[in-house]
Amino acid sequence: MGPLVVANWKMNGSEQLLRAVVQEVGGLAEATVVLAVPAPYLSLTKGFGNTQVEWAGQNVHWLKSGAYTGEVSASMLVEMGVGWCLVGHSERRQHFSETDELVLAKTKACLEVGIRPIVCVGESLQERQAGKALEVVSRQLTEVLNGVPRALAPLIVVAYEPVWAIGTGEEASPEIAQEVHEALKRAARCEIEALELRVLYGGSVNADNANALMRMPDVDGVLVGGASLEALGFRQLCAQVAGSV
Ligand code: PEP
Repeated sequence: MGPLVVANWKMNGSEQLLRAVVQEVGGLAEATVVLAVPAPYLSLTKGFGNTQVEWAGQNVHWLKSGAYTGEVSASMLVEMGVGWCLVGHSERRQHFSETDELVLAKTKACLEVGIRPIVCVGESLQERQAGKALEVVSRQLTEVLNGVPRALAPLIVVAYEPVWAIGTGEEASPEIAQEVHEALKRAARCEIEALELRVLYGGSVNADNANALMRMPDVDGVLVGGASLEALGFRQLCAQVAGSV
């Protein structure tokens, strides 16, 4: 499988930007480009016809339906043609109190309907400074892998997003990313033998640093926030990633 670029728009963007981005990256065949856009824009995705772009939710509820105003279920995402969903982004862990337990429940809800969860893990600056980065991310990953049906685990993609690198302009060095990705893949194989986990790096990725990150053997793609909000620049970034294999 080729490299993966996931754009996380967070609560940004517009219909106009969506059309511009799809126009720029919709024909890229060398990388899989997944757009995690705000939920209302997912209702527009079917109108894009045979674009190569794939779609992701940014969040999902863990139950199938019910009195949960403002929430979106996994089967609703499927109905919109969505094949992926971010789960456990650090902003959700921080601002919406999402625990490892909730991240597992959401991951399971995705897997049950065939959505590929992009499970985000990452350490805070304090945890890194305390030498606990590998321990923290391995625990976050293990909590998920322990709880999902083994047969469905290969659908999971992990995004390593050090909290100190998100939206700060201070990306992890390729060597740091490599060290953590390698540790995550090792931890995954301890839980589920022969699991070939794909691990993306996220945190201040842009067209200038994407190539160096992608040259690391265990970096299988990138998760991009701010740099996915400008169509031409994002196309350059995707082209860098596509050309890196
Ligand atoms: C993100 O929020 O997932 C992210 C990686 O953001 P940024 O690229 O802006 O650091």
